Amino acid sequence: MKVYLFLFLIISGVLLVFNKSFFSLKNKYAITDSLKETKKNRAVIKGKEVIKLKEEKNDNEWRKILTPDQYKVLREKGTERPFSGEYWDNFENGIYKCAGCGEILFNSNTKFDAGCGWPSFYEAVDKSKIIENDDYSLGIQRVEVICKKCGGHLGHVFPDGPKPTGMRYCINSLSLKFERKGK
Ligand SMILES: [Zn+2]
Repeated sequence: MKVYLFLFLIISGVLLVFNKSFFSLKNKYAITDSLKETKKNRAVIKGKEVIKLKEEKNDNEWRKILTPDQYKVLREKGTERPFSGEYWDNFENGIYKCAGCGEILFNSNTKFDAGCGWPSFYEAVDKSKIIENDDYSLGIQRVEVICKKCGGHLGHVFPDGPKPTGMRYCINSLSLKFERKGK
C-alpha cells in the first residue's frame, strides 16, 4: 500500500510541475502575441495591399521619442483640438516634415487658410511619400493621410480645397515639424 501512496505522490508531483510549465508556456505564447501586435506598426494595410514601412520602430521606441500628445495623434490616430496646434496660423516660408521620422511632407507654398483650425495644404510635396487610405472610423467615409515612411497618422484629405488641386490636406500640427526656409 505504501508503494501505491508513494507512486501517487510522485505522479501528482509530476502533474503539478507539468501543469506549471504548461502555464508558463502559455504565458510565453502570450508575450509572443504581444510582440506580433507591435509589428502591426511596421506595415499599413490598404485594402488588400500591405505597405511595408521603412522606419522600423516598435511601440516602445515610439513612446520614447514622441511626446504623449504626438504619440496620441501619430500612433493612435488622434486629432488635436482645432486652433490648438502650433502651425494652423503659421504662414512663414519653409517645409513641414513628419514629426515621427523627419520625412519632408508639405511645403509652405501650398498652405492656405482653410479657417478650420488645422494646418491645411492643397497638395503634398510628393504623393509617393504619403498613403491615402479609406477611414470609416466616425461612421462616415473619410480619407486618412499617413506618412509612408513611418506609418504615422497625419490627418485627413477632403475634396473641398482651393485650386489648382481642389484638395484640402487637413493635417495635425502635432504630426508636423516646421523648418523655416534658409535655415
Ligand atoms: Zn513619418
